[in-house]
Amino acid sequence: MSGSLLDDVNKLLEELGKWELAKKNYENLEQVKEKVFEVNGCIYKVQCNLARIAPATQTNNNPMNKDDKQPNCFLCSNQRPKEQKRVPFKDYGIQINPFPIFPKHLTIPSNKHEPQLIASNNFARFDDMLDLAQQLDGFAVFYNGPKAGASVPSHFHFQAGNKDLFPIVNGDKEKWKYAIRIESKDKDGEKGMIKLFKAKYNSFSKEPDENEPMMNILTWYEKEKGQWTTCIFRRKKFRPACYDSLKEDKLLITPASVEMSGIFIAKRIEDFEKITKKDIADILNEVAEIQA
Ligand SMILES: [Zn+2]
Repeated sequence: MSGSLLDDVNKLLEELGKWELAKKNYENLEQVKEKVFEVNGCIYKVQCNLARIAPATQTNNNPMNKDDKQPNCFLCSNQRPKEQKRVPFKDYGIQINPFPIFPKHLTIPSNKHEPQLIASNNFARFDDMLDLAQQLDGFAVFYNGPKAGASVPSHFHFQAGNKDLFPIVNGDKEKWKYAIRIESKDKDGEKGMIKLFKAKYNSFSKEPDENEPMMNILTWYEKEKGQWTTCIFRRKKFRPACYDSLKEDKLLITPASVEMSGIFIAKRIEDFEKITKKDIADILNEVAEIQA
């Protein structure tokens, strides 16, 4: 008999040792170097994570294809490495992310090859996100929009990682000026999280070539308070100019939910050594909208 969803996920993480690639990357994660900056009163860590160069190059540029299984989609069930086990949850499978940023890092793809759109089925996906955050105690769940850092925009997925490692979770909420922060003890109803999120979402403008307003989302649940918190980061741009620079100011930084929540990932040693507090401030300012 299986226990709670969290028990099953913890069991999955305990069995990590059977998957060589993931095991190696989780062991390496324990040794990664980190720098810490304070930017506008908020903590931003920089993690030197060289393994992350691999998922960044695993991309799929065919967002409109709606076939059930795609030959080049590594989130489709037929493409999964045989070592990658999953815990079923609704229409999803909870899997270990083999390229971790967190000691517990999950990828949660939908069973079907459907595009990355948080509003689909009248925000049912967002509803699922809240259920995941509530059931996976100790995790924060995050979503990267199709043009805001999703590694596979053609296949719907969330990720989750250790809640307490995201600086925004325990930071001073007044100071995180790039986050639209919503709190609610209810999921449904007039003051419920879904309705509040929907209202924000519908207030965002969208470019003609976009399927959804450009954004990252982080959600967590506090059991003690019985409350969800959702942070929406409105994006102006995905990659900062320094990403494409051919000069010495080049930084291979691709901001997504994790960066917006206070953890910048350097995929090359030179970027880790070079990046300054000013670079972080400039990148945030370039890619995200300040909230009033
Ligand atoms: Zn797929």
